[in-house]
Amino acid sequence: MLTKLRDIVHNVASSSDVKQALNTLVRETCMAMETECCSVYIADHDREMYDLMATQGLNKRARRISLKFNEGLVGLVGRRAEPINLAHASTHADFKHFPGIGEDIFHSFLGTPIIYRRKVLGVLVVQQHESRQFDESEESFLVTLAAQLAVVFAHAKAQGFWPNNAKGALLLQGAAASPGVAIAQAWCDVSQPRLDLVSPASCLDVEKERDRLDGAMSAAISDFRRLRKRFDSELNQETLAIFDLFIHLLNDPMLRKSMNKCIESGDLAEWAVRQTIDSFAERFQKMSDPYLRERSSDVKELGQRLLYFLENQEIKQWQFDKPIILFARELTAAMLAAIPRDLLAGVVAEEGAVNAHAAILARALGIPAVMGVEFSPQLVHRKPLILDGFKGKVLVEPADHVRAEYERLRDEELELQQEVESAFTKHTKTADGVRIEIHLNAGLSADTSIAINRGVDGVGLYRTEVPFLMQRSFPSEEEQVNQYRSILDSYPKQPVVMRTLDIGGDKPLPYLKIEEDNPFLGWRGIRFTLDHPDIFLIQVRAMLRASIGRENLSILLPMISGVSELLDAKSLIDRAFEEVSELAEQSNQTLKMPRIGIMVEVPSVLYQFDAIAPHIDFLSVGTNDLTQYLLAVDRNNARVADVYDTFHPSVLAVLQMILAASQRLKLPVSVCGEFAGDPIGALLLVGMGYRHLSMNTRSVAKIKYVLRHIPSDALKTHVEKMQSFAIAGDIRKASEDFLEHYNLGGLIRVGK
Ligand code: PEP
Ligand code: MG
Repeated sequence: MLTKLRDIVHNVASSSDVKQALNTLVRETCMAMETECCSVYIADHDREMYDLMATQGLNKRARRISLKFNEGLVGLVGRRAEPINLAHASTHADFKHFPGIGEDIFHSFLGTPIIYRRKVLGVLVVQQHESRQFDESEESFLVTLAAQLAVVFAHAKAQGFWPNNAKGALLLQGAAASPGVAIAQAWCDVSQPRLDLVSPASCLDVEKERDRLDGAMSAAISDFRRLRKRFDSELNQETLAIFDLFIHLLNDPMLRKSMNKCIESGDLAEWAVRQTIDSFAERFQKMSDPYLRERSSDVKELGQRLLYFLENQEIKQWQFDKPIILFARELTAAMLAAIPRDLLAGVVAEEGAVNAHAAILARALGIPAVMGVEFSPQLVHRKPLILDGFKGKVLVEPADHVRAEYERLRDEELELQQEVESAFTKHTKTADGVRIEIHLNAGLSADTSIAINRGVDGVGLYRTEVPFLMQRSFPSEEEQVNQYRSILDSYPKQPVVMRTLDIGGDKPLPYLKIEEDNPFLGWRGIRFTLDHPDIFLIQVRAMLRASIGRENLSILLPMISGVSELLDAKSLIDRAFEEVSELAEQSNQTLKMPRIGIMVEVPSVLYQFDAIAPHIDFLSVGTNDLTQYLLAVDRNNARVADVYDTFHPSVLAVLQMILAASQRLKLPVSVCGEFAGDPIGALLLVGMGYRHLSMNTRSVAKIKYVLRHIPSDALKTHVEKMQSFAIAGDIRKASEDFLEHYNLGGLIRVGK
């Protein structure tokens, strides 16, 4: 039986066309189960109907046979999401008679749902003339088959190899990562040839091959020169140095000699490049200095570039005359930076989830984004599409009326945004006058917009990782001082909370490989910096030096899990303070001790507030990681994105507990996770009693607008009501209705 099962799944999966695959499925299932009829019904969730897609045994003729979700035995299988096995099907209350399809002659019925990630994709049915109960082994055969088919179907659906839905467009579903609607052409970034896929090949004309290689090398050199020039004013010297290294390597006689030697021995240029690059990369890989070891990946990147120019005569640049929607396997900060903001309408990524740092960055830049979307480049590249960042949907080649509908939505969104922004510069008060401080989360985008943010009460979270992530080595103390000083000076009269380095997890440093099975539970945040006091001291000293003569610096420590980490970090801060104080004295200036706070994001600190409080000045709640660690769910894993839910009653209970502790201990508290920038999140937090929220630039206007329209006592009552809800979805729904009641529903058109 197992072999039969494997064969059916294999044959279905290897069919190139869905109709053919489904016909194969019903035919082979009939044979394997020795029954006379097998049919497969596919669910259309928009129409709430099952369509009979293929059958062996029923008379389908040319007409379309569809059943409502609440009709017939097939509907019952779908609703109950479990198999139904009947010896006398026609006597069952849910049996529905379709005239003319010849079902009357079948008495026994066994139907099982095809379920993928809790969603019924269809129903698989076998039927037989004689009245008999299918036995247990037959039932488990069909259930196992359906489970395996579900994966095949889901994959086909994601790849677009699936019958069109009612709207005629291919629909790709992912997680809503950054709100907004984008309507533009898709652009898939799969342009990089892969060095690891080049295999041995020989050439006939050595001279010609050498010319090809020379041409590719010159083209690569001028491309690197062009890039260097282009980024000259935007990137710092360290980052630009990578282009110099590439140019230097391309001019290196050793490298050239090695490639030419391969060609002379009869190798094709591509194969010559691969062999040479592999051996150079290996040489770097073996070096003991981590910085030099990292050059190994630069050499490989260089090889990719040469391959590109062997295949392409010209320097193909990403030059768009119209905005595009970028599709990538993995979205990186560099990709977002490479395309001018006005030409990047939206982004779709296969890897990652809504709280991956790339998604946070997209939100900060106001670029609609959908993450966790499986796509097939040939089905989307250059196709017109709609990206719905509210619902996490991508519609490829939408019908005109659907497009018109989305254009209307986008225009409404713009109008709303303008209205919202008109309240931007005023202080935030609830409708009954309770003052709420709104701070900014900055740093991820490494942009300069931080200086133009009016209407905020300071910076609640400055993520210092960006310069560390963008460069090819640790930024120097001097570079850090300049960077931090410009931020402190952008907010001379307001607090600026700078967080010490929080790398690790999903923010690996390009020049310091950390290989771990569970990076989020591993060497990240304060754990890393305490093990590297040199890096920590340089950073804290840079922050303190930047704050000489200023009064607005606060230092925030990430990933604190207990008192000893805090004390260790504080003693390093004290040491840096002494050193920098001396410096300040020498120039007759003063250095003020910054306020020190911790991120509340590792659940263990929830039980240590009393012990921690005497050592700190404030708390900052990181709901992104707190949710991840409380619910034991990876914030970046698209597969469990639906489990990652900040509206989970336990998360809300913990947020209330933190507030109560902060009030008891008279410790100021703010919330700086993404939850604070979500309209429903913000209203729940203010309803609980939080008065300081910190969020991305893009959320500021929206949150101010929401809070100004609702009185604080109504928010409090709403939160009290939510305490009786045990399910996250119910809390979200009731909160959406609450916003709707204040005519603010337009601000949250979120799918989830
Ligand atoms: C958080 O964890 O909520 C947070 C604000 O920090 P980050 O997203 O940078 O981990
Ligand atoms: Mg965090």
